[in-house]
Amino acid sequence: MVAVRHLSKSFGAVRALTDVSLDVAKGEVVCLLGPSGSGKSTLLRCVNHLEKPDAGAVWLNGELIGYRRDGDRLLELPDGEVARQRQRFGMVFQRFNLWPHKTALQNVMEGPLRVLRRPAREARARAEALLARVGLADKADAWPAQLSGGQQQRVGIARALAMEPEVMLFDEPTSALDPELVGEVLAVMRDLARSGITMMVVTHEVGFAREVADRVVFMDAGTVVEEGPAAQVLGQPRQARTQAFLAAVL
Ligand code: ADP
Ligand code: MG
Repeated sequence: MVAVRHLSKSFGAVRALTDVSLDVAKGEVVCLLGPSGSGKSTLLRCVNHLEKPDAGAVWLNGELIGYRRDGDRLLELPDGEVARQRQRFGMVFQRFNLWPHKTALQNVMEGPLRVLRRPAREARARAEALLARVGLADKADAWPAQLSGGQQQRVGIARALAMEPEVMLFDEPTSALDPELVGEVLAVMRDLARSGITMMVVTHEVGFAREVADRVVFMDAGTVVEEGPAAQVLGQPRQARTQAFLAAVL
């Protein structure tokens, strides 16, 4: 479903990604682990073209993201087209970035209403269903400031799902949360994973990765060091860098 081929990306002199290739199958949950600065966020941001790679490309269901082919050249798509492609990815960041002046329900409805142009009644019904799915049926009318960090992040997940994405991208969705709030967000993500949603998840939660991931990808210094079934990469890592990382975080 997602095919990443030979992605490279630099920021000035910093090589954030070097020749990264990766496949994610439909319904698969892939967890990306690695030390800070290893290029995990840059990889996710290149996948939905928030960041333009220097080299390499990404396909979603066979469609090239960010470019169109003209003979053997790649031409950049206009911003509007890229924005439309980006809607096919749902993204959840470390920070929830809810609209503070909108209720939980309005936050979830906004995209379907304004971007997908769904009728208000339909958008509302779906937003209510999604809030129920993340365990917040009773918080529809709450303002973000009235919600805990974990509840805000769950609204953020509902908001991303409301856009009917083909793939969900999570970038350390629990890293900004107080420890006691991490579990409720991971529980929602576990449910999503079980429901067959295709997910790429950057996380430091090794326990979550072990339990939920079909595959774990370990990155270091902008490259994929090791990947494989969660039990293998986390249980019997082959590479010294993976072993050292796991020894430090476990
Ligand atoms: P991770 O998410 O694994 O912590 P990142 O993808 O954020 O890693 O960063 C990879 C490298 O690229 C780091 O050295 C980081 O400082 C650098 N980097 C990321 N984004 C930018 C940016 N917008 N400008 C400059 N350097 C960046
Ligand atoms: Mg990051």
